[in-house]
Formats: sequence, C-alpha cells, structure tokens
Amino acid sequence: MTKEQELQIYIDGKYYPKSQAKISVYDHGFLYGDGVFEGIRVYNGLVFKLKEHVQRLYDSAHAMILEIPLTQEQMIQAVLETVRKNNLKDSYVRLIVTRGVGDLGLDPRKCCIATIICIADHIKLHEGEAKVKGITTLVSWVRRDPVDGTSHEIKSLNYLNSVMAKLEANMSGADEAICLEKNGCVAEGVGENVFIVRNGKISTPPTSTGALEGITSKAVVELAKKLGYQVNVENITLFMLFSAEEVFFTGTAAEIVPIRQVNWRTIGKGSRGPVTEKLMGEFQKLTRDPKQGVDAYS
Ligand code: PMP
Repeated sequence: MTKEQELQIYIDGKYYPKSQAKISVYDHGFLYGDGVFEGIRVYNGLVFKLKEHVQRLYDSAHAMILEIPLTQEQMIQAVLETVRKNNLKDSYVRLIVTRGVGDLGLDPRKCCIATIICIADHIKLHEGEAKVKGITTLVSWVRRDPVDGTSHEIKSLNYLNSVMAKLEANMSGADEAICLEKNGCVAEGVGENVFIVRNGKISTPPTSTGALEGITSKAVVELAKKLGYQVNVENITLFMLFSAEEVFFTGTAAEIVPIRQVNWRTIGKGSRGPVTEKLMGEFQKLTRDPKQGVDAYS
C-alpha cells in the first residue's frame, strides 16, 4: 500500500499515515492503560450519536481527573475531519485520550498533557449469518470490576477484565463471553450490553452493577418502548438468562446481535427471535436518520 492510500491517523492535531502513526513508549495510556476511549460508527457519512459519544468520553475522563485539552466541540470537529480526511462513508472511529507522556512511575502528575488519537477505519464483528442465526456465549468466571473500584461505567483503556473473559470464550469455542457482577447477576458482555426477552417483556441489567451505560442500549430501549414493549431495568439472574425466549447483545461495534446459546443451553428456538429481529430492523433505520448523529460531509 502506498503512503497516499494509507489511512491518515489523527494524533494531537496532526495526521500521520497508519504505518507512521506512533506514540511514545512513555505514554501512560500504553504503560498503565491510563486513558479513555470511544468506539463510534459512521453510517453513510453520518457519525452516529457523535455528541453522546463525546459526552461519555469527557465524563469518563472527568471520573479519572484526566483533563482533555480540547473543548467537546473541538473534539467533535477532530472526529469529523478525520472521517473526511480518509474519505470514509461507512466506518468505525476509535477516539482515544491518554494521560500522555510521563516517566516510568505511574504518578499521573508526571504527565503534562493528554495525548489525543482519532482513527477512522473499519471493524468486523459478527456479521452475516451470525446476525440471523445468532451467536454462542459462555458465562465467564471473570467477574466485572466493582462500581467502587475500576468500574466499567468508566470507558477506560484498561480492558484486561474483558480480555480475560474473551479468552475464556475463545478457549471454550464460544463466540462471545457474558460477564457477571460481584453478586452473580448478569452485568454485560466484553464490549456489549445484554438484553433478554422473557414472558414477552424486555429486560436489561442496571449499570449500577458495573456495566457501561451503552449508547446503543439506550437507543434500543427507546426503540423498544416506541414499539410498545415493556422494558425493565432489573437484575438478571443466570436462571432468567437460561430461560429467556430471546437474548441479544447491543453495542456500537456489535450493533444488535442475537444470542442462540448460553453455556450449552439453547435460547428460545435456537435462532434469532421475533423481538430481536424487529429491533434490528428498527435500529438499522435509526442509523440512517440524520437527527441521530452529525453528518461529516455537510
Ligand atoms: N459494554 C462495554 C464494556 C463496552 O466496551 C461497550 C462498547 N463501547 C458496550 C458495553 C456497548 O456500549 P455502546 O453501545 O455505547 O457501544
């Protein structure tokens, strides 16, 4: 690939071809996972829920006392410009803010200024058949971090908890992992929120047990309510999960993915259920609605 064809990566206000987009090995994002990030989808030039993602980025940074040297509006413009610069219509944006370059100690005071990175590329997660047949999952032994610890409400660069759970799923031959919170109820996937349909009602766990406040999950709850479904935010036990008619994940990368198996137990009829299918159709329409994001090209 020539340099002209290479993706252009934004780092601290400048663009670098992908092969030359590098940060210091003294950056605390690299040394300690000390930073925050967002994954954002672009649908036909529309940066979906961009303002919501940027707000969450700043909320996560605030929780970590990480000062971002751009206003939210400037950050929005940086994302839009990166998408345009790469001439991408359908893509996946990874926006990262690290504590910046420090010394080898972990003291954040040694990091003078945050590093800002914006990558506009593509992502592939459970496409095609998986979206119709559904995926298999494993409930991992790796509990979510507690809300009074490194809570998953903060979208930090420290994803070891998710990586450990994903490894378990990989080794056991399952497509994805489901994580429990400290009391043993369902928390979320490794990068997705969880929903069940049981007795015709939709339920999802509260984020107060340590799940990320998903932007897709919020949109899906609103869609479901509009369609007349009852949506409960409640603790979900393993029994409720196993005996659900339908189970699905939501997330920016995953969008909506049906789950057909949990720990070798078939869910419902063992393929995508009608509620999931309906919500997937409505969600796809939402991603085309100009009111749901910011158009990078207008
Ligand atoms: N939980 C975790 C741990 C995640 O990383 C993600 C992906 N950002 C989600 C849930 C889904 O959130 P969203 O719909 O905002 O992408």
